Amino acid sequence: MNFKKIAAFLLALLLCISMAACAENADTKETTTAVPTAELIETTTETQSDVLEWVQCEGYELDENQEVKNIILMIGDGMGENILTNAEIVKGSKLSTSFMPHKCHVGTTSLSGVTDSAAASTALSCGVKTKNRYIGVDQNGDAVETIVEFAKARGLKTGLIDTHVVPHATPAGMVAHNGYRGEYNEILKGMIKAKVDVMLGGGAEYAETPKMQARIEDAGYTYITTAEELNTLTKGTPALGCFAFQDFTADDNPSLTSMTSKALELLEGDEGFFLMVEASHIDIFEAELDMEGTLKEMQAFDKAIDYTLRWAEEHPGTLVLVTADHETGGVIVPESGKAEDVNNDCFTSDGDHTDSDVLLFAAGAQSGKLITKEKIENTDIALLMRKALTDTYGDAPTNIITQ
Ligand SMILES: [Zn+2]
Repeated sequence: MNFKKIAAFLLALLLCISMAACAENADTKETTTAVPTAELIETTTETQSDVLEWVQCEGYELDENQEVKNIILMIGDGMGENILTNAEIVKGSKLSTSFMPHKCHVGTTSLSGVTDSAAASTALSCGVKTKNRYIGVDQNGDAVETIVEFAKARGLKTGLIDTHVVPHATPAGMVAHNGYRGEYNEILKGMIKAKVDVMLGGGAEYAETPKMQARIEDAGYTYITTAEELNTLTKGTPALGCFAFQDFTADDNPSLTSMTSKALELLEGDEGFFLMVEASHIDIFEAELDMEGTLKEMQAFDKAIDYTLRWAEEHPGTLVLVTADHETGGVIVPESGKAEDVNNDCFTSDGDHTDSDVLLFAAGAQSGKLITKEKIENTDIALLMRKALTDTYGDAPTNIITQ
């Protein structure tokens, strides 16, 4: 009996202590919930912006049987296989690319070894392996026909989008010819001369000199500099948008998705079109070993791809290709597979490019027929785009625009 009384007393005492502790906890909880709530509101406001939210992807139904009328080539600069996996871990659900039905590996090396963005873009656009820093020229420095020139020769409209300067390596390699990627003024002159219908990105530094403005005007371009002006663009004249003095990130406006959606609106028509969309800053943040910045850019790119695939569902005859020019950062996937471990420790290369394969994803018109191997070279992407356009639009004389 005595023992029972002592036990009951101890139990009551324990109950009192734990209730007091609960009350204390409740207080603590109240104060701690106050902070996350405030943070949550802030995050929600951010996620309502056009850029910083993960878009939930549920799959796409694109017609593969139509002949190829339009090609949309989307390039994640520095987007290796592992950063895709890491982005998926952090997102907590599948990226838009995971719903694209055809996929293969792509070799990226250039004649200089590990490629830079210039030689990679030349390979993707012209179908030739060349030296680093070369834009639309072969190893001897001779101009080779770019994908924009190839498309224009068949009467298609053309568009180039990036978030770096408009004449940056990737868009430059799609149209221009130059032995040195840093010749931004010369390259921009060539891009204007080639009359690409829509060019959106940064680089007001080069576009806004009096001489360049005169060229832009003479070529009949509508020149814009803000997201608001982008919204008001309508079909009719070619458009050049430079939304930053140099470059801009996923935190800025316009977003990659709004540039893509406007370009699609301007380019859509009976002629068909070739559009290249580059998420330029995946590479920039990887080079800085900044995982948070890299993931924001992946988020923006995933959203732009999702938008594009949904647009292509509504526009049969569109072939959507998503790839990368090279891997950057030697990114590894954390063994734990946990989002909290996707951090700056995942970079293993000091921010350099690597020679790892990248992936090519394809959906839409003829995609199943064009992707038939497990591994191809980056030059094969140029060849398969040419084959698709030739099948639909026929042959045309080689079209190299002297710059
Ligand atoms: Zn690159």
